[in-house]
Amino acid sequence: MKQLDIGVAGAGPAGLAVALFLSRAGHRVEILERFATPAPVGSGLLMQPTGLTVLSALGLFDSIHGLGSRIDRLHGADAVSGRTVLDVRYDAAPGGRYGLAVQRAALFNTLHDAVAADGIRIRTGIELAVSETRGDRAVLKDTQGEMVGDYDLVIDASGARSSLVSGSGSAPTVRNLAYGAFWATLDGQGAAYDKTALSQRYDKAKVMIGLLPAGRVQVHEAERVAFFWSLKVADVEAVKAAGLDRWKAIIRNYWPDCMPFLDQIGDWDQLTLARYAHRTVLPPFSGRLVCVGDSAHSTSPQLGQGANMALLDAAALSHALANHADIASALAAYARARRNHVRLFQLLSLAFTPFYQSDSNAIAWVRDRLVSTIARVPPMPGLLASIVAGTLIDPFGPAGLTECEWRRDYSLLSGMA
Ligand SMILES: Cc1cc2nc3c(=O)[nH]c(=O)nc-3n(C[C@H](O)[C@H](O)[C@H](O)COP(=O)(O)OP(=O)(O)OC[C@H]3O[C@@H](n4cnc5c(N)ncnc54)[C@H](O)[C@@H]3O)c2cc1C
Repeated sequence: MKQLDIGVAGAGPAGLAVALFLSRAGHRVEILERFATPAPVGSGLLMQPTGLTVLSALGLFDSIHGLGSRIDRLHGADAVSGRTVLDVRYDAAPGGRYGLAVQRAALFNTLHDAVAADGIRIRTGIELAVSETRGDRAVLKDTQGEMVGDYDLVIDASGARSSLVSGSGSAPTVRNLAYGAFWATLDGQGAAYDKTALSQRYDKAKVMIGLLPAGRVQVHEAERVAFFWSLKVADVEAVKAAGLDRWKAIIRNYWPDCMPFLDQIGDWDQLTLARYAHRTVLPPFSGRLVCVGDSAHSTSPQLGQGANMALLDAAALSHALANHADIASALAAYARARRNHVRLFQLLSLAFTPFYQSDSNAIAWVRDRLVSTIARVPPMPGLLASIVAGTLIDPFGPAGLTECEWRRDYSLLSGMA
């Protein structure tokens, strides 16, 4: 592949990672971002062995581990009876895998610092509207209709609400989900929580409360914790109108250990409302535009895969461009490389979401009585571990990656052995 001029729309995990891969492969890359100062939105993220392998390929394994909290287990209990209804351990599958919970800001800074160190240009304050293919060029236009860039290839990494494909033959299918969640990043000192687990409490499928140890943004800082409370987006105003104290009382009744976290919340503004949507663009390219990350496929975060899949896309696209002589065949190869993994995990997210966020008491009953029992019978523990790790089918080979050797690589981290 000759050296290409590439415009990357969006400075999220997908955009920053793909820019790093492609700039290192010798292409001229610039990133365009709507924020005046690129900044992460949201709270904690669970990085899986998939995303960690991509970060390792970018030489960022040590830096992300210096900021994250190792997670070995996902544990959920019925808030009323105390019965365990979810217990997935990474080590139920072979390979020594684990998760790493990070604050969004930590992932963003790690990638952004590498982008800055590599001298990749980021043009900020540009709200992009559309990408149009003109012959063998792709132009990007902003919301004023002004042309802001002209490239060999545009990579759409502008997330789940991207409009860039509207100028092409591809149309996304989008389904907004009824349930979202309030999220906050809070101080963990003095609080009782499992430091190696994502812990959740449920009441049927209507209530889900979660605590995720989420590491730090600077190495010297104390660990913080991502707290979340699932609710219907349509109920947000009613919940707020009833008042913060009422909301805290409900959570305290379900899970008293949350009090040290709730005590830190004095205003609704400290909570970010995350809305979820399922979105698919098929195929994830058209002409000289190609989609990576949430702009190609977004799901509810139930399985904690989105950022990891975004990073896998970045690696797979750069691998395809390195191994094909022309852009059209490289984009088709990228789509093929990611197709099965993306489809499988979109399907699994779609299937799992109603078990944790829906109005159905019947589904919650099945989860609490049947699924939790079956989940303990071999080979289910190993299977569930592979689903959570994102490795149920090989995500690495098609993206040109070699999976980390977890035990060895983790033991080589300074201070972690
Ligand atoms: C509450 C919540 C919890 C989650 N938890 C997890 C988890 O535990 N693990 C996990 O792997 N994933 C998780 N996800 C999903 C994950 O956040 C996304 O999949 C991931 O951020 C996708 O990365 P991206 O780079 O494709 O898009 P984004 O992170 O959305 O980044 C898009 C970038 O493009 C910019 N942009 C958008 N529109 C424009 C425009 N018009 N012009 C210019 N720039 C634009 C944005 O400002 C942003 O910088 C979670 C999501 C939510 C909402």
